[in-house]
Amino acid sequence: MANILITGGSRGIGAEAVRQFTAAGHKVVFTYHRSETAADLLRQETGAVPVRCDVKHPDSVKIAVDKAVSVLGQIDVLICNAAIADYGLITDLDISRWEEVINTDLSGVFYCVRHVLPAMISRKSGCIITVGSMWGEVGASCEAAYSAAKAGVIGLTKALAKEVGPSGIRVNCISPGMIDTDMNASVSEDAVDMIVDETPLCRTGAPSDVARAMLFLASDDASFITGQVISVNGGLVI
Ligand code: NDP
Repeated sequence: MANILITGGSRGIGAEAVRQFTAAGHKVVFTYHRSETAADLLRQETGAVPVRCDVKHPDSVKIAVDKAVSVLGQIDVLICNAAIADYGLITDLDISRWEEVINTDLSGVFYCVRHVLPAMISRKSGCIITVGSMWGEVGASCEAAYSAAKAGVIGLTKALAKEVGPSGIRVNCISPGMIDTDMNASVSEDAVDMIVDETPLCRTGAPSDVARAMLFLASDDASFITGQVISVNGGLVI
């Protein structure tokens, strides 16, 4: 059984990942940012240990990673899942919001990887799973910052896979399509219907669809897979 650190585990896909990894017998620490109550409920439900962290601040990430190591002993699998979305015309996107999205969704991944990697390199083993988005693959109108950040996550994943593969570390990106979580709470019913119409599997995804792919990538069944973008999108982007 492995020791897992999941960022953004308090809600949505991350929370479902916490449930599935603990149910499979893994030891899990997860981070939350604002949802302390949800994090505590998830701790009671699963036994996983919550740690507060704001991924856009390197010092906060370092403290969280150190706490995770003190709970787990070592981190075998890092899942960089925390992110925020942003909708609007690029001409209305102010610089502080651009920076907030890029710092959370892209730099946050870098900070987590930077603090976790040295111990993995020393042990010559480890697994990192980043969470991109189909919009990082193809771009979304009115989601410029989010699309740019997620495209960056994909580039970071591929570069890292090449750099740390010889150290026995696998790095892959899961790229979800439209998944039923709070992140899409403001998407109109009409827009969701349109996406479902265009999706070959004729539905939106559930957090469990993504969490199962994470479980696979973290397992030995994926031991020859690195540097890949695994799309979990019902065929919407092929
Ligand atoms: P949610 O909005 O449901 O949850 C986001 C999670 O990220 C929460 O646990 C939140 O913590 C955490 N988080 C947000 N900001 C920060 C921060 N600054 N520091 C630390 N944690 C933070 O999102 P989803 O579950 O839908 O998304 C999970 C991942 O999947 C993200 O990377 C997202 O981009 C990606 N994705 C999602 C899609 C979807 O359709 N839902 C589609 C494509 C990709 P808290 O609540 O405690 O503040």
